[in-house]
Amino acid sequence: MKFSDMPYSRPDVDALRKQLRALTETLKTAPDYSAAKAAFLQQQELEKHLSTLSTLVEVRHSIDTRDTFYEAEADFFNAVLPEIQQAGTQALLDSPFRADFEREYGSVMFLNAQMELKTFSPEIIPELQQENDLVQAYEKLLASAQIPFEGKTYTIAQIGPLKQDPDDARRLAAWKAEGQWYKDNQAQLDELYDKLVHLRDTMGKKLGYGGYIPLGYYRMGRNCYDQNDVEKFRKAVRTYLVPLADRIFRDKAARFGKQYPMSFADNAVMFRSGEAKPTGTEQDTLNAGKAFYDALSPETGKFFRMMLDNELMDVLSTEGKQGGGYCTELIDYEVPFIFANFNGTRDDVETVIHEAGHAFAAWKNIHRIPVDTLLPSMEGCEVHSMSMEFFSWPWAELFFGKDTQKFKYSHLAGALTFIPYGTMVDHFQHEVFEHPDWTPRQRHDCWKQLLGVYMPWQKLDGDIPFYSEGEGWQRQHHIYSFPFYYIDYCLAQTVALEFWAKIQSDREDAWR
Ligand SMILES: [Zn+2]
Repeated sequence: MKFSDMPYSRPDVDALRKQLRALTETLKTAPDYSAAKAAFLQQQELEKHLSTLSTLVEVRHSIDTRDTFYEAEADFFNAVLPEIQQAGTQALLDSPFRADFEREYGSVMFLNAQMELKTFSPEIIPELQQENDLVQAYEKLLASAQIPFEGKTYTIAQIGPLKQDPDDARRLAAWKAEGQWYKDNQAQLDELYDKLVHLRDTMGKKLGYGGYIPLGYYRMGRNCYDQNDVEKFRKAVRTYLVPLADRIFRDKAARFGKQYPMSFADNAVMFRSGEAKPTGTEQDTLNAGKAFYDALSPETGKFFRMMLDNELMDVLSTEGKQGGGYCTELIDYEVPFIFANFNGTRDDVETVIHEAGHAFAAWKNIHRIPVDTLLPSMEGCEVHSMSMEFFSWPWAELFFGKDTQKFKYSHLAGALTFIPYGTMVDHFQHEVFEHPDWTPRQRHDCWKQLLGVYMPWQKLDGDIPFYSEGEGWQRQHHIYSFPFYYIDYCLAQTVALEFWAKIQSDREDAWR
């Protein structure tokens, strides 16, 4: 079915609640495994349906944040989802047939269910609802940005390419214009985050963890690593990767004939002669994507055509559209959906391949029961997408033509220099939640200090508002909207680099 034909109407929450309660009762009192399993499977169907409806709302709302109908529906789901979703978990954990369930469906769902219970108590429902509202307010503020530049106005996504303009003065001016927008809105950005930090800290305390960090890990569904592991990883990044990444920026400063450290604006471009650019239009990039997925394997070819035929990729940047890109699933229809904001740079290519990497993994796995394990934990998901980016290298010429070598250098250098940035985003959040009573000023100071440790190649002279004042964290959606979701990218990028190495020696084997 085409995306535009997928019907939506608001579900009857009372009826749903009743059905779920009845199923939970059946699960508790089932005389044998087959009765318990039947109730479990019915509950899975309801969950799929509810997920499909709320995802339709979320996607349509993010495509046009000005649409008041889907805005109201998004508010509706934000208000009801937290309480609906809890129903059957405890009953499943208490089931006398748990061993039978584990044999048939694996033990991960129990591990996840136990963790999920640690993230919730009816006591924190008010905080969860306020948290949703604040996150929406942040996303809406960024989506509504109107940045004046050269007599026109730009959204944040639209000004992105100008921040990579080959002309030094124009590029710097674009950085300053965007930075100034953040400065002009900083009081609101500070206030939103301050409220979010206190809310999250309160949730952690109400649940008995003394603060937010343990709760943040449980909410991220981290079922195989903890804070100690992350600290070890962080240390390794500082020891091994920061010096390597630093060399990339020192080399570049030498190539540019400028003094190290260079400004954010100068570091934003890789080559004096211009960045690697897709050779054609946005449509050409999509066509090249199709050719790549056709060539990679029969399954990926079938998959990508299905996505195009059913309007499952909304990738052009339009007004009112939420920033960023994501992949999600419409489980009732057994399809994934890709959302992006194309801007005419090499990011478009990486986005279509990256998000389609997620989508391909989801599509291959879409029938899985339990629904909760359709996707692995986040760092596992990103291994699919980031590795797919490296699998596309032999076909890079389809996208980049004569710029192919430039693309490969930027891509690999980008992977190596991203990990310190991402690790810093994560480190910052640990500091913030260890000091929940910090003032906004203290949070900015912390970010600025971490920049010196993880990104010594950025000049912090205050010349570019917001960025070179050491306050650029407020543009990072994850810090507001998905706390502690960022180290996942760093872990996955590390694994993707292992794939990169393997692809150099034996691509067939790496794909297998
Ligand atoms: Zn991703």
